[in-house]
Amino acid sequence: MTLEKPTPTPSTSQIGLDYDVAIVGGGVTGVTLACAIKDSGLSVALIEAQPRSKVIAKEQSYAISLLSSRVFEGIGVWERILPQIAQFRHIRLSDADHAGVVRFETADLGTEVLGYVAEHRTLLSALYEFIEQECPHVSWLSPAEVMGVDYQDSGVEIELKVEGEKHQLRSQLLVGADGARSRIRTGAGIRTWGWQYWQSCVATTIKHEKSPNDTAFERFWSSGPMGILPLPGNRCQVVWTAPHAEAKALKELDEKQFIEKLESYTGGLLGRLELVSDRVLFPVQLMQSDRYVQSRLALIGDAAHCCHPVGGQGLNLGIRDAAALAQVLQTTHKRGQDLGNLRSLQTYERWRKRENLTILGFTDLLDRMFSNHWLPAVMVRRSGLWMLRRVRPIKTYALQLMTGLRGHLPQITKQRGERGQGDKGTRGQGGL
Ligand SMILES: Cc1cc2nc3c(=O)[nH]c(=O)nc-3n(C[C@H](O)[C@H](O)[C@H](O)COP(=O)(O)OP(=O)(O)OC[C@H]3O[C@@H](n4cnc5c(N)ncnc54)[C@H](O)[C@@H]3O)c2cc1C
Repeated sequence: MTLEKPTPTPSTSQIGLDYDVAIVGGGVTGVTLACAIKDSGLSVALIEAQPRSKVIAKEQSYAISLLSSRVFEGIGVWERILPQIAQFRHIRLSDADHAGVVRFETADLGTEVLGYVAEHRTLLSALYEFIEQECPHVSWLSPAEVMGVDYQDSGVEIELKVEGEKHQLRSQLLVGADGARSRIRTGAGIRTWGWQYWQSCVATTIKHEKSPNDTAFERFWSSGPMGILPLPGNRCQVVWTAPHAEAKALKELDEKQFIEKLESYTGGLLGRLELVSDRVLFPVQLMQSDRYVQSRLALIGDAAHCCHPVGGQGLNLGIRDAAALAQVLQTTHKRGQDLGNLRSLQTYERWRKRENLTILGFTDLLDRMFSNHWLPAVMVRRSGLWMLRRVRPIKTYALQLMTGLRGHLPQITKQRGERGQGDKGTRGQGGL
């Protein structure tokens, strides 16, 4: 474990604090926030309960949106990530075996790619390496468990257990990036609303015969959506949603039967398939926190909200939260204000809560419209798919929503270009 203190910045030393910002959670969203404020002069404590090698080792892959790629470009870490991940140039959306497939192409958006797919370990290793090499403002406290938090007028006092010993640190602001079951959120008395879906999700990696694979598939079966995302080396990430019992049975099927079933569901698109990872079963939920902030506290990522995995949006929302909060904190700091002041933090909440709700609603609607046989729903969704194929503004709107290019874009996404191998995409409006 590491527990070294950085040289205090003027703002912390003046008011007798150890750090400006304490981030609880060393997953992708917490670490993205730490990296995104690297040029602000703020000192950061990054507190992670597990050893970092264990956090990196999680078997998962994510669709990374164009917006998230621009956040990473703005930070300066994208060139470390890009060579190790897959890109997709086509998206195919289909309603089970119905012939009317919606085809999204790069020309629809004027970009070179439509998105990326990264393995968790690749993404997080690159971010951890970036922190080690480029972020002297960040101190790792890991493995370190948060035992208690005391929110005071002048700062937050955080009690930690590190290798069985108690430590205390103070900061201006505490950020909860500690995932869906956030203890920081519950400890602060912030309530949530939402529901568990009737479905679970089986995620696994397959190797396939046919190449090249630069297409992301989302196929909606009445039991639930199935996403197939390309990975480097003729591999794909499969995210297969089905009612709980069916999903459990899929996980427990022997390998040969699972592959046969998968081949029948993918219609031979990828040729012969081979399973190359364990099958992991995830519960699926929608959750939104009543508040993202209170005095001296902000929540980001899954600690603030969770959505259905259809469309691969969850982590991308968290990355966008991190970029937005980083921008608000830098503005507050430049104005010489306290980072924990509620009025500034509410700027972040107003910005992100509504945008996240749009995506939570969109993914919920997609799942409900497609996961049933009710004739009116079948007719509505077939008309929806027809419009997506034929009405250009609707197609562009849907694509911009999925790639993150709609809404209030964080300033950091505009610091790309001179640095990178950008996607040459369209730009939205933004700036705080
Ligand atoms: C099957 C499936 C597929 C998905 N696919 C996609 C996709 O394609 N694209 C996408 O964008 N999203 C996807 N998601 C969603 C995505 O996985 C989550 O949104 C994302 O992992 C959340 O990241 P996070 O950093 O907010 O939280 P987490 O990844 O949960 O990280 C939280 C961190 O906090 C640490 N922690 C917890 N408690 C404490 C504590 N008390 N003290 C210190 N540290 C603590 C944990 O150890 C952990 O490292 C998918 C989800 C599922 C289930």
